Amino acid sequence: MMPVSRPAEGETLSARTSTLLKRRQTKANSYVEGSAAIGGAWKAFGGTDAKKEVAEKLEKVFFGKCAYCEITVARDVEHYYPKSLYPKQMFQWDNFLFACKNCNTDKSNRFPVDDNVPLLLDPCNDEPADFITWDLVDSGQPILPPDRRLAETLAFLPQLRAQSLATLRLQAARNFKWLLTEVLEPTPRPSDALAWLESEVDPKQQWMSVRRQILRDPDWQPIITKVRTQYPHLGPMFDAIVDPRSDP
Ligand SMILES: [Zn+2]
Repeated sequence: MMPVSRPAEGETLSARTSTLLKRRQTKANSYVEGSAAIGGAWKAFGGTDAKKEVAEKLEKVFFGKCAYCEITVARDVEHYYPKSLYPKQMFQWDNFLFACKNCNTDKSNRFPVDDNVPLLLDPCNDEPADFITWDLVDSGQPILPPDRRLAETLAFLPQLRAQSLATLRLQAARNFKWLLTEVLEPTPRPSDALAWLESEVDPKQQWMSVRRQILRDPDWQPIITKVRTQYPHLGPMFDAIVDPRSDP
């Protein structure tokens, strides 16, 4: 999971779509939690140009990746606060995330709260790295501190612990570490190692949280500093991963 800057509605959605969302939200405000009208209203929204615009804008904001598990086959407009339980949030831009089918389905309308405070990690408001540290040596899985919010998030989003994804995370970590050292060699092998490293820090890549963890790892700073010195153009690309919410 990567921290994401979701722009304000007024900065990204067209006035027309904003108006349409507001109109639909006004109607949705009268829906009772769990009522069948909620699903119907969302389905009716499905075929509209406004929905299309929302999905396209979210795809850009989330770099086409699932807000939770980072795979690139995301295409669902996901509600952080589930629409069936929080109809007053169902047409709110600030409640929209981009997610893959698996995460969206797994989460469904489950939403753990403690004293009205959500426990599910929110990539737009939380700092995921405060909660998730990946084991990049052996398993590719989250290292589990006794933190309640991470435990709840993993319980509701089993995709985060899927073995197939863990294997790919480990692979991404190994490639990235290897490339960071290889580009410092007098004659990097392969010769296009630098271009490869550049492509690895493209925010559209999956498993960016893995590379972010390495870029933030104190043990790796001596090598990363050397890479930044030798290839200054990589600095802003690294910075954008380390702190994606800061203005470039
Ligand atoms: Zn996902």
